[in-house]
Amino acid sequence: MTSVAGPHKRLEGKVAIITGGASGIGACTAELFHENGAKVVIADIQDDLGQALATKLGGKACYIHCDVSKEDEVINLVDTTVAKYGRLDIMFNNAGIIEGQGLPVSVVESEKSDLDRLLSVNLGGAFLGAKHATRVMVQQRKGCILFTSSVCTSIAGLSGHAYAASKSGVCGLAKNLTPELGKYGIRVNCISPYGLVTGVSNVSGEGEANREFVEAMLSELGTLSGQTLRADGIAKAALFLASDEAYYVSGINMVVDGGYSVVNPRLVDSINSKL
Ligand code: NAD
Repeated sequence: MTSVAGPHKRLEGKVAIITGGASGIGACTAELFHENGAKVVIADIQDDLGQALATKLGGKACYIHCDVSKEDEVINLVDTTVAKYGRLDIMFNNAGIIEGQGLPVSVVESEKSDLDRLLSVNLGGAFLGAKHATRVMVQQRKGCILFTSSVCTSIAGLSGHAYAASKSGVCGLAKNLTPELGKYGIRVNCISPYGLVTGVSNVSGEGEANREFVEAMLSELGTLSGQTLRADGIAKAALFLASDEAYYVSGINMVVDGGYSVVNPRLVDSINSKL
């Protein structure tokens, strides 16, 4: 991961919970937040990975088992964090799952059970994280709630229907929380990544060769040439939104996709072919 700590620690003194913090975007963000001076609570269901990361980070980091779809576990996560560190400044609701291989599937072949599962983790987990972080942040009259959504909320056809529905729900939730929580000085924002190789997107688990193949394919499909989106690209967006540099940024869906969702490639190709 590239370091962006810069001349000063941008989250010094802040306490952050990162759900889905054991792997991928969440793990990278945990490292970056920690490097920037935050006390970091890694929340996940992959206990060995989460604990290993907390141990690697050392002081000012810990791991708490939390299935974000279970309210009692989210309550325990928030209350244990506050008991240990005295406050909660940043709640990054990042845990997420995909259906199957994450590729678009006909609605006719989609299972209602998949929809229920994805809504429960991706949207239900985001809702519970926001709800219980708000309990604490309202008393502090300050806080930052972040969600990981997806580029599939900006451009259609990239994912299965259940995933798209769950992530669109996350954006809707974030937007709707903004006026209520703004009254208490709490900022609410979404980050919507383009595709990148992490635990969820490397489901076939074929190792480094597969990772490189998928990364190359995603770069090729992208709009911004010369760059490949990796977890640090999302972690750095989260760092900005979580820091005081973003003190007046609330209610946005920051789409980190190199411009992919604003371009109609067919139109661009057609115009270019005529030039
Ligand atoms: P990842 O699989 O590496 O990380 C997701 C983490 O969430 C894992 O550690 C997993 O154990 C955890 N998790 C799953 N279910 C959980 C639950 N019920 N409770 C707590 N933790 C749970 O994948 P990632 O790409 O880093 O995913 C992070 C977020 O980014 C997800 O919300 C995902 O939907 C979103 N996202 C990913 C991509 C991509 O291409 N990788 C693109 C857009 C959005």
